[in-house]
Amino acid sequence: MIRPGKMIQQVLSSIFKKPATTRYPYVKASMPGHFRGKIKFNPEKCIGCMMCMRDCPSKAITIKKVGDKKFEAEFDLGRCIYCAQCVDSCLKKALEYTNEFELASLDRKKLKVTFHAEPDKGPETKA
Ligand code: SF4
Ligand code: SF4
Repeated sequence: MIRPGKMIQQVLSSIFKKPATTRYPYVKASMPGHFRGKIKFNPEKCIGCMMCMRDCPSKAITIKKVGDKKFEAEFDLGRCIYCAQCVDSCLKKALEYTNEFELASLDRKKLKVTFHAEPDKGPETKA
């Protein structure tokens, strides 16, 4: 049994201690290193080997040839389980994980993201 004096000491120390929780979403959350968030595609490094597609357990990634040695990647963020297997499978380091995690949407179409190879289309669009 905790003695009353000890209990008061513990209560007072926890009042002045920094809380273990944060005020997210009012305070921006900082993710730890190697956090596996949204996957990013670097088209200039892709050689179209399709290893990422083959190894993805959720079939969430599609690589399409859009020109001579040019490839674009489509991700279905609604299917992705953020395992980063595709990042490990890509020998050309064309895929990387980011610390982006606020990806929820009520519209499933918005969860389909295309990373373009052609600069005029911009780096990324949603379906
Ligand atoms: S992170 Fe995992 S589930 Fe998502 S695209 Fe890559 S391999 Fe597939
Ligand atoms: S594994 Fe890498 S290089 Fe091969 S298709 Fe996928 S992103 Fe491109």
